[in-house]
Amino acid sequence: MSRVYDCVIVGGGPGGLTAATYLARYRRQCLVFDTGQARAAWIPKSHNCPGFPDGVGGPELLARMREQARSFGVEAIDAEVTALRGNDDGFEIRHSDASVRARNVILATGCEDVTPPLERLEDAVACGAVRLCPICDAYEAIDRSIAVYGPPAKNAAHARFLRTYSRRVALVPSEPCDDADLREELAGDDIEVTAEATALHFDGKHCIFELGERARSFDVLYPMLGLISRSSLAVGAGARCDDEGALIVDPHQMTSVDGLYAIGDVVSALNQISVATGHAAIAATDVHNRLSRNYA
Ligand SMILES: Cc1cc2nc3c(=O)[nH]c(=O)nc-3n(C[C@H](O)[C@H](O)[C@H](O)COP(=O)(O)OP(=O)(O)OC[C@H]3O[C@@H](n4cnc5c(N)ncnc54)[C@H](O)[C@@H]3O)c2cc1C
Repeated sequence: MSRVYDCVIVGGGPGGLTAATYLARYRRQCLVFDTGQARAAWIPKSHNCPGFPDGVGGPELLARMREQARSFGVEAIDAEVTALRGNDDGFEIRHSDASVRARNVILATGCEDVTPPLERLEDAVACGAVRLCPICDAYEAIDRSIAVYGPPAKNAAHARFLRTYSRRVALVPSEPCDDADLREELAGDDIEVTAEATALHFDGKHCIFELGERARSFDVLYPMLGLISRSSLAVGAGARCDDEGALIVDPHQMTSVDGLYAIGDVVSALNQISVATGHAAIAATDVHNRLSRNYA
C-alpha cells in the first residue's frame, strides 16, 4: 500500500503554509505542493500584517512562514498539482507524472491579478507607482494623485474608497464610459472621470496615461481589471464557486465536496493575508477533528 497523507495542501502562500504549520503541530502527516507564484511575493512592504510594526516584504514573510512550517517537519514539493480526484478513501492528487493520496485536501492556490500591458510592471509595483490592492496599501497613498484604471461601472466603489485617502482621485476608463449618471454621481464625490485611456507608460517613477490628445501622469495607479481565481482543480472535482470563480465554503472552510477545503484568496472572501491565515487555522483544525484520533 502506498502512503496516504492525512492532508495534502495545494499552494505554499500564507494560507497554505499556515495550514501546514497547524497540521504538523496537530501531529498530522501533511504535504505541501507549490509552484512559487504567490500573490504575496508581489508585496513590496506590507504595513497591515499583524506583528510587524515596521512592515514586512512579501518574500521575507513567505520565507519566515516556510521556515516555521519546516521546523515542525512539514514536507514540501515544488511542483504543480494538475488534477484532483475524489474517491472512497479520500483523494488522488496528480503532479508531474506521479500521484499521491490523501484523506483530505486543502486548496490554497490563491488568485491572479489581471494586469495592464505596462512595460516594467514589476518595477512599478516595487516602487509603489502601481498598487494592486487598495485595502492593503491605500494608506501609503495618502494625499497622492491616484488613478483607478478599469471598467468604470465596476470601479466606482474602488474610487470612492480611495477618496478616504486623497482629494485627487480620478477614474480612468479602460473602455468607453457613456453613463452620464455615473459621471455625475462621481463628480458629486469630487472624483473625476477622465477620457478613455489609449496607452499607458511607466517612466521609472510615475505612470503616464495617453488620454486622447493629452498625456497625464499620476503618483499612484490602481489597475482594477479583475482577478482570476485559481479554483479549477476544485471545480474539476465538483466544488461550487461564485460568479467570479471563487470557491464557496462552509463555516469550517469546506467546499461542497466532502474533505476538500479551500482557504485564502481562492475563496469568495476578502483577499488579505490575515484572512488567509485565519481560514488556514479553521480548516486545519476541522481536518484534525474529522481524522481518527492520534493519541500519544
Ligand atoms: C501588490 C500586492 C500587495 C498586497 N499587499 C497586501 C498587504 O499589505 N496586506 C495583506 O493582507 N494582503 C496584501 N496583498 C494580498 C495578499 O498577497 C493575498 O491576500 C495573500 O497572498 C493570499 O494568500 P494565499 O495563500 O491565499 O495565496 P497566494 O499568496 O497567492 O499563494 C498561492 C500559492 O499557490 C500556488 N499554486 C497555485 N496553483 C497551484 C497548483 N496547481 N499546484 C501547486 N501550487 C499552486 C502558487 O504558486 C502560490 O505560491 C497584496 C497583494 C498584492 C498583489
